[in-house]
Amino acid sequence: MKDMFCFQCEQTAKGTGCEVSGVCGKTPVVAGDQDKLVGACIGLAKAVKKTAATEATDACIKKALFTTVTNVSFDDESLKVLVACVDKMKEDLDPTAEDYDMAKLWDDNEDIRSLKTLILLGVKGVAAYAHHAAILGYKDPIVDAFFYEALDAVGSDLGMDTLLPLVLKTGEINLACMALLDKANTETYGTPVPTEVPLTIEKGPFIIITGHDLHDLKLLLEQTECKGVNIYTHGEMLPAHAYPELKKYPHLKGNFGTAWQNQQKEFATVPAPVLFTTNCIMPVKDSYSDRIFTTDMVQYPGMIHVGKEKDFAPVIAKALELGGYPEDKEM
Ligand code: SF4
Repeated sequence: MKDMFCFQCEQTAKGTGCEVSGVCGKTPVVAGDQDKLVGACIGLAKAVKKTAATEATDACIKKALFTTVTNVSFDDESLKVLVACVDKMKEDLDPTAEDYDMAKLWDDNEDIRSLKTLILLGVKGVAAYAHHAAILGYKDPIVDAFFYEALDAVGSDLGMDTLLPLVLKTGEINLACMALLDKANTETYGTPVPTEVPLTIEKGPFIIITGHDLHDLKLLLEQTECKGVNIYTHGEMLPAHAYPELKKYPHLKGNFGTAWQNQQKEFATVPAPVLFTTNCIMPVKDSYSDRIFTTDMVQYPGMIHVGKEKDFAPVIAKALELGGYPEDKEM
């Protein structure tokens, strides 16, 4: 019997699936909780066939699916809380709707499993985009309705003739959702302009912010104004420099480091805190665990999590405590 099963990303073991533990660091316990969470979302999708979805269920299903994307959450406690939250919503809508056992999918006929997995992994990505658009007040009812349609299909006994068109529709919905997020970002932060991004880390206190939540970056820039703390993007946050409403902050100085997968080496000696806003967190090494902060759906056991109130004071205090580099440093 396998300890777990996951083949949702390019890191997957032997190119076929992680069955003992995740190459990404995901444990069998976390994998099991993520399967339960997706199974609960499928139950919720079945429940909305009886009682209509609400804004609350839309928000919940987006957060839940986003949480199961690779390198977002390694924290089984917060996953269990989310499972309970989705189950409660499902029971309120239809007490007879049952959670789906993901083992049925993993053990299914390979063609059916492949088609259903394309749909499931597709909507996980859509959920991440839709969640970020919703943070900025942008929603698309067609996109929101598709989460239930797609998940209901994953949890139903359907053939290839039905699943294949749904795979194509997943792609169409994904494009629509990308357009939604682009509209949300450009109407909120302006149309991106070509921007030169410095790679020199100036001396003095600084914070590294990674992931792709522009709203978190904006709040961090506001909270660090005139505090003597500079801000550097990392990884997927790099494009933030091109948005006029973000680049106007003089203490948004540049970009730290290289690709996300080099973080365990690059964060080891950095004299600054790192704030993770979305997927890309790798197993945290002891050498820098005192400097890692998470927010939104990102969770890692033992790391300080900044909640919905978005008070980044602990991150700023850590930046001032660590003090940054004594001299300008070329990356
Ligand atoms: S997300 Fe983690 S557990 Fe899943 S395939 Fe990728 S490396 Fe393996």
